[in-house]
Amino acid sequence: MPHTDYPASYYAASANPAPSRPPLEGDLHTDVCVIGAGYTGLSTALFLLEHGFKVVVLESARVGFGASGRNGGQIVNSYSRDLDTIERSASRRHAELIGAMAFEGGQIIRERVERYRIDCDLKDGGIFAAITSKQLRHLEAQQKLWARYGYDRLELLDAQAIRRSVASERYLGGMLDLGGGHIHPLNLALGEAAAVESLGGVIYEQTPALSIERGENPLIHTPRGKVTARFVVVAGNAYLGNLLPELTAKSMPCGTQVIATEPLSSEQAASLIPQDYCIEDCNYLLDYYRLSADKRLIYGGGVVYGARDPADIQAIIRPKMLKTFPQLQSVSIDYAWTGNFLLTLSRLPQVGRLGSNIYYSQGCSGHGVTYTHIAGKILAEALRGQAERFDAFASLPHYPFPGGHSLRVPLSALGAMYYSLRDRLGF
Ligand SMILES: Cc1cc2nc3c(=O)[nH]c(=O)nc-3n(C[C@H](O)[C@H](O)[C@H](O)COP(=O)(O)OP(=O)(O)OC[C@H]3O[C@@H](n4cnc5c(N)ncnc54)[C@H](O)[C@@H]3O)c2cc1C
Repeated sequence: MPHTDYPASYYAASANPAPSRPPLEGDLHTDVCVIGAGYTGLSTALFLLEHGFKVVVLESARVGFGASGRNGGQIVNSYSRDLDTIERSASRRHAELIGAMAFEGGQIIRERVERYRIDCDLKDGGIFAAITSKQLRHLEAQQKLWARYGYDRLELLDAQAIRRSVASERYLGGMLDLGGGHIHPLNLALGEAAAVESLGGVIYEQTPALSIERGENPLIHTPRGKVTARFVVVAGNAYLGNLLPELTAKSMPCGTQVIATEPLSSEQAASLIPQDYCIEDCNYLLDYYRLSADKRLIYGGGVVYGARDPADIQAIIRPKMLKTFPQLQSVSIDYAWTGNFLLTLSRLPQVGRLGSNIYYSQGCSGHGVTYTHIAGKILAEALRGQAERFDAFASLPHYPFPGGHSLRVPLSALGAMYYSLRDRLGF
């Protein structure tokens, strides 16, 4: 059986020590079989274990192998489309429920970090940076929108104020979210996996779920064993492939790339981002960056529709970094990697149930660090018979990509070109 290890990244190189877990050999029975050990799977497993369920997690590669171990590490509140879109897409009651949850993901992460003593370099504070005056006006509206849901941890920044937080000439202003923040993403996943095991959950690595035999007690086939469960939670996101054909046409894996510089001097790091916030700009195809605990600049951006791995990641991302921080011209890049997130046409997450016992959540379309932790909670609630919040998410409308499998990549790339042009021209 092939062994799949972590891709080379700054995160893999600085991961906390973690066991290599053996693959599943043989047959077993459990209450819940979770497929995928990213944040969605681990968060669900943890909530279920905390409520007395017996849980087995199957992971095709390693814990945090997917987006959860490769992302920008930015704790961003709300969803890939904001609450005004949700108000237009869902009933009033469902929009209220989803809106009330929009700020819960960051709290769940902080509670987990504290309760299970997860060492993942958690820092508070994130900035949305505006490049155009339209984006600045949008941030003002966003502050009012979030205030309607009781969230008051936002502070608008004018051009001078943002310059005190980010040493870049690019921004006209921005908004600080004190409830945002950042983490070492792989270490968060590894810590959550250890928490799962501390509560009696079992994680099998190098164990892809090959097929699910549906029925009263679904049977999950893996290369060397089978799991019979009362419930299945499918949490494979952009790495799932065609395990559930119903979901494949409704989403598209996309790659996004990240680089990490060599460690900067303390003075240089403090001059770039003095309060150590994370930053994302407000473009449709956005740049996101922050400092690591050892003072590297971790800079991400770019989207590859259809998730092909680009040949030269530095060539894509370094010019973006230098546009923001020309003062880093002579700084070298130590790591460059790519990871896949799952795009949906609405850019809202897809949550649902197939039959009576196969649950899924996927497709947070790029902003998933907080949402996936909410997903774990609502999936666990649904399995415990409290489905109100699950139903709210499940009610969001979803559409197949126009053109099916063959056209979804070119059409979305075309759409992105349009948005990127809009970003550049500022309209
Ligand atoms: C480069 C990058 C940067 C990002 N930056 C940010 C950011 O800064 N902030 C933010 O909010 N979001 C960010 N995101 C998005 C965020 O990381 C994801 O939304 C989130 O991690 C998704 O978690 P997940 O558990 O659903 O999926 P994943 O973390 O991808 O986990 C899915 C897991 O399932 C496993 N799997 C798949 N199929 C099977 C199978 N058949 N059997 C067994 N296992 C299977 C995979 O191996 C994988 O480990 C970024 C994403 C990427 C790729």
